[in-house]
Amino acid sequence: MTNNFPLSTNVEIGEQIYDLIVELYPICRSLTGDGVRETLSRIEERIPLDIYEVPSGTPVLDWTVPKEWNIRDGYIRGPREDLIVDFRRSSLHVLGYSIPIEGRFQLNELKEHLFTDPEHPDWIPFRYSYYDENWGFCLPHRQLEQLEDGEYEVMIDSTLEDGSLTYAECYIPGASTDEVLICVHIDHPAMCNDNLSGVAVATFLAERLARAERRLSYRFLFIPTTIGSITWLSRNEQNLERVKHGLVLVCIGDAGGFTYKQSRLGNTEIDRVMNYVLQQSQETHKVVEFSPFGFDERQFCSPGFNLPVGSLSRSANGKYPQYHTSADNLELMIPEKLAASLELCESAIEILEGNVKYLNVNPKGEPQLGKSGIYRKVGGAIPERSLVTMFWVLNYSDGEHSLLDIAEQSGTPFREVRQAADLLFEHDLLVPCEADAIDASKATSNGNRHSSIAIKASL
Ligand code: ZN
Repeated sequence: MTNNFPLSTNVEIGEQIYDLIVELYPICRSLTGDGVRETLSRIEERIPLDIYEVPSGTPVLDWTVPKEWNIRDGYIRGPREDLIVDFRRSSLHVLGYSIPIEGRFQLNELKEHLFTDPEHPDWIPFRYSYYDENWGFCLPHRQLEQLEDGEYEVMIDSTLEDGSLTYAECYIPGASTDEVLICVHIDHPAMCNDNLSGVAVATFLAERLARAERRLSYRFLFIPTTIGSITWLSRNEQNLERVKHGLVLVCIGDAGGFTYKQSRLGNTEIDRVMNYVLQQSQETHKVVEFSPFGFDERQFCSPGFNLPVGSLSRSANGKYPQYHTSADNLELMIPEKLAASLELCESAIEILEGNVKYLNVNPKGEPQLGKSGIYRKVGGAIPERSLVTMFWVLNYSDGEHSLLDIAEQSGTPFREVRQAADLLFEHDLLVPCEADAIDASKATSNGNRHSSIAIKASL
C-alpha cells in the first residue's frame, strides 16, 4: 500500500526543537510566577503571543485563581553544616508552592516535610502543594536514608501572595473563523518530556503554520495545567462555538510509540484524522478512548463543554518510570522523535485543511471527462490510478461524503484524493459544499494551488 504520510523524521528540525527544550529547561516554572513569564518571553522571540494576566482570587468556573508563587533560593544544611539539598542544583528540590521558611529542625521534625520516591531511590520526585499551604523539600530516597540524627538548618526564600496567573495565546487566523485549538502546558519545573516537549513542538508548529496558507484558524494555548484550561474556558465560554478541533500535546519527545486519546465524543473529525495519520505514519501507536484522567482534555471534554479535543502523547502520563521525576530530563529527549511528533501534527493539519465535501455537478451518469479539458491539462493520458481516484471522488462527492471518507472508502491516500478533487474542481466538475471551502477554493483557482497543498509545500 502506498503510504500517505510516512514520517521522515527530519533530524535538523528535531535538533532545533531539542535546542529550544535545552534553552527552557533551566527556568523554574510553576502554576504562576516569573518562571512562566520568562518561558513565555523566550517563546515570544519565535512566535507572536498575546499574554494574559488573571488576578489571584478571580473566580473561574468552580475554582479560584491561586496566589502567585515565586522562589529565589532554598536549602537544607546538615548537622555538620554541609549542604544536603540545594535549590540551585535543581528546582525540583523545593516542594512547588512552598511557603517561606527559615529555622532549625530535628531530623524527625524535618522528615514530615521531606518527599521522596522509594520506587526510584536515585531520582528527585516532582511534588507540589498548590492548594494547601505547606513547605517542603524533595530529594532522592537514598539520600534520605543516609541522613543522620541532629539539627538541620532549613531556608526557603519564596513568596506566595496576591499576584496573577499568566497564560498566552498564539492566534494564527485563516480564511475561516473555524478554529483548531492546540494546548500545551508551561508550569513544570526541570522536566522535559512533561511539559517542554509539547511546548517546543507547538512553538515550531505555530511558527511553520504562520508561513502557510490556511483555510482554518489556529489558536495555541500556553497555559498552566488544569487551572490554566479552567481559567481559559471560563474567560472564553462565549467563543467555544468556533472550536472545531483540538489537541492537547504532552510528553511527545521520548522514544515511546504514539498514544492518541480520543475526545469524549469519540467520533469527531479530529478523532478520525488522528487515527488515519497514525495508521499511515508507520510508527507504533495506539488509540485509546477518552477517560476523565490525564491532562487538560479533561477540562475541554467536561460534560458542560464536551469539545472535540483529543490528546497526543508518546509515553502517556504516568506510563514511563521517569514521569514526574528529575530523570525526565534532556537524556530522555530524542530529536528524531520530536521531529516525528511535529510532522504527525502537520499531517493531521494537512487533512483538516483539505477535508471538505464537494458536489459532483454532473451526478447523472459519469461526466465525459474529455469535454472538460482534463486530458489536455495532464498531457493527454491520465495514469489509471489517478483516473480511478477521480471516479471515486466524482461518485462520492454527493454532499454527504468528505474527502477523508473517500480516501478511507477507496483505500487511496488522502493526498491523492485531494489532488484529484483539485483537478476536478479546476475543470468545473465539482463545487464545494461549504462556505469556508469556497473561500479556500478561490485561492485554488486563482493561484492554482489548494490551501492544503500550499501548507505542505511551505512546511
Ligand atoms: Zn505533569
